[in-house]
Order: sequence, then C-alpha cells, then structure tokens
Amino acid sequence: MLKGKTAVVTGGTRGIGFAIVKKYLENGANVAIAGSRQATVEKAIEKLPEYKDRVMGIWPDLCSPEEVAAAFSSVKERFGSLDILANNAGISSRTSLYDYTVEEFSKIFDINVKAVFICTQAAARIMKEQGGGVIISTSSMVGEYGQPSGCGYPASKFAVNGLTRSLSRELAKDQIRVNAVAPGVTRTDMLDALPTEMVERISAGIPLGRVGEPLDIANAYLFLASDLASYVTGLTLRVDGAAMT
Ligand code: NAD
Repeated sequence: MLKGKTAVVTGGTRGIGFAIVKKYLENGANVAIAGSRQATVEKAIEKLPEYKDRVMGIWPDLCSPEEVAAAFSSVKERFGSLDILANNAGISSRTSLYDYTVEEFSKIFDINVKAVFICTQAAARIMKEQGGGVIISTSSMVGEYGQPSGCGYPASKFAVNGLTRSLSRELAKDQIRVNAVAPGVTRTDMLDALPTEMVERISAGIPLGRVGEPLDIANAYLFLASDLASYVTGLTLRVDGAAMT
C-alpha cells in the first residue's frame, strides 16, 4: 500500500511509533525512525534486520527547526522523497493542577505541540516542492474529553486536533493531507507495567471490552497514509473501542 513512499515516524523507537514503523515497512515504504537518542534509534533498527535497506535513523532535537530541517533533508537525500510524516512522539503526566509547575506545562507543550508544528513545517516545505504528501499526528481520546488530572496533556492534544483541522485547510492547495489518530488506552510499556487486575478493570470499562493494541493504531495510520484515504483530510480518527476515559 505504500510502495515507493518514504515516511518519517517521530517517537518511532517503541510503543505505538514502533508499530507504525513496522506497518509502514511491511507495506513497502522506506522509513526514517526519529528518536530522542542515537542509541535507542539504533536499538530499534536492530530489531528490523529484514528491512535494513529501507530503514534509517535520525535523532534531531524536535524543538529545533534547524536540526529537524537538516534531518528531514538527509531522509530525502537517502530515499529520494519525503511523502509521509507521522508526528507521534509525545509525553504525558497526571500531575494535579495544584502541583503543576510552569516548567512541566511547557515541557509537555514543547514535545506534544511545538515539535508537531516544527516537524510539520519542515516536512510540508519538502512535500510542497514534491507536489504533495501526508501528515498524521497522534492525538488522544483525552483530546476530546479532557481528563481529571494532568491538564497540560489533554490541552496539548486539543491543540494537535486544532493544528490538524487548520493545516488541512491551509495545505490542501499543495495536495498535502493532514489528519490525526486519537488512540484510547493502548497497550505500551506503561500499561504492561500495571498489575493484571488493573488492566482487566480498565478493559471492562471499554465498550469493546479490551484495551487497544499498538497494531490497532498502526492500522489506522496505514489507512490514512495510503491512497485509500485520498479524499480524507482534517480528520481526527478515534481508535478507542468507544472508550470515554
Ligand atoms: P511511549 O512512551 O512508549 O513512546 C513515546 C515515544 O515518544 C518514544 O519513542 C519516545 O522516545 C518518544 N519521545 C518522547 N519524548 C521525545 C523527545 N523529546 N524527542 C523525541 N522523541 C521523544 O508512548 P506511546 O504510548 O507509544 O505514545 C505514542 C503517542 O501516542 C504519544 O503521542 C501519546 O501521547 C499517544 N497516546 C498514547 C496512548 C496510550 O495509551 N499509550 C493513548 C493516547 C495517545
């Protein structure tokens, strides 16, 4: 479904991002894994020996426009194009408002919003010149419902949805589609660290009766990146089993 396309996946070293990387590689794309550290990026690439000719690593500071632009140029140089950007890197916290520091709030917004803006701008400049592309960001179900603690995280995902809607309208003339995927509770390292009974309790509260798997999210990412979604832009696609936090 993505043969000949090139994707950058931020936060691609583990969890949902690594599932997107694998899904894109299985479907024929070249993939650049963007992580925060060279060591973790290289470790992730080691897990994909069968794709070594189609995968590379980059580790720019996602809040530095210069580093991101240079890294994305190196991807285009290696594979000939940059067609898909998955803005997936993100951090969360559950700190109460009374204890929330400005520093913590800024840190969440730096990686969850500012980095999405910077990466999208750098990728869109390349995509415009190429004649089009696809940008997809990882939002969250809490970007619709909020959550009863850690207000910076849901606020950052509302901002991701806002960027998605606005940029889909601004970039349509350049044939760049802009969408988001909003996962519900998804099984990553953090969830695996919880006691089984707690995961069972969480699952019971989800109408589909289970938590999401990274593959559920990666499948949505595949659809939105592919030509099957050629007329879909400005969408935040919920992939949450009808959960409502
Ligand atoms: P995770 O912690 O396993 O992965 C996060 C990824 O982001 C890692 O690869 C990490 O290296 C990367 N990252 C974090 N800070 C970075 C930085 N400064 N620079 C570069 N990379 C950085 O978590 P995950 O659950 O796989 O999260 C992926 C995305 O999904 C996030 O945007 C998160 O908000 C969103 N999400 C997750 C869930 C869930 O239940 N797991 C639910 C809704 C949304």
